Amino acid sequence: MPLVSSASMLQAARAGGYAVAAFNVHTLEMLQAVVEAANELRSPLIIQSTVGTVKHLGPDYLAAAATVAANRSQIPIALHLDHCTDFELIVRCIRAGYTSVMIDASHSPFEENVRQTAKVVEVARAAGVNVEAELGRVGGVEDDIVVEERDALLADPDECARFVELTGVPTLAPAIGTAHGIYKGDPNIDFDRIGRIASKVAEPLVLHGGSGIPDDQVRRCVALGMAKMNVATELRIVFTDAIKAVFAGNPDENDPRSYMTRAKNALREAAAAKIRLCGSAGKAGDLA
Ligand SMILES: [Zn+2]
Repeated sequence: MPLVSSASMLQAARAGGYAVAAFNVHTLEMLQAVVEAANELRSPLIIQSTVGTVKHLGPDYLAAAATVAANRSQIPIALHLDHCTDFELIVRCIRAGYTSVMIDASHSPFEENVRQTAKVVEVARAAGVNVEAELGRVGGVEDDIVVEERDALLADPDECARFVELTGVPTLAPAIGTAHGIYKGDPNIDFDRIGRIASKVAEPLVLHGGSGIPDDQVRRCVALGMAKMNVATELRIVFTDAIKAVFAGNPDENDPRSYMTRAKNALREAAAAKIRLCGSAGKAGDLA
């Protein structure tokens, strides 16, 4: 089937009490690996790229590869632009074929975040594209966005409700204590806050910083209303470690098809584990 907007699959996930995994990919093999995992498990899937990856590969290359993947699949697949602060780039990605975009104006004051998000919602709605926005500030490092721990701010439940009402944004990423990158200790997730936000916001909520959150805590987040879980760093490490292992065993290896296949297989297994954890296996036909 063609690429679909992530709106319908995320609404179904929120209603059904599970989450859709959103995997950041950086190469064709990474994209193929997460698509194979989702197909094997009959799960909806969100392929996503950061701004850095869009600049690295080009939005047209990424959209073309994701389109081929979707056309070859019997599961709904969306292509999402992660953490974008640049309106022009959002429009370029929508034109290239992205079916979901994140406007991240969370670094700006509330009113400015509302203004920028509402503007993207208007453009995206006309194109049938889903929009995600962030409230509060997720800590850690995502591409070139660095948020020190002391600057990370948790989202206020009443502000979340007001933000969704003012912007009409269909998907919300509230900062609730997770961080980008790999956690030094356990993450400090404010579950009570997730519950309070979910009671005021009916839209699907997004869990950022999904790498390295203990499984039981992920399940708790999903049960409370997190309908999309972003995973980036953990997959990158699995993929790279598999390549390192190839060269450690055979420093003369020079066939990318050989070492990339090993990396792809390792990534497929890791992605499958995250899909199972999110509870979306077997939900491919489950659109709102
Ligand atoms: Zn994020």
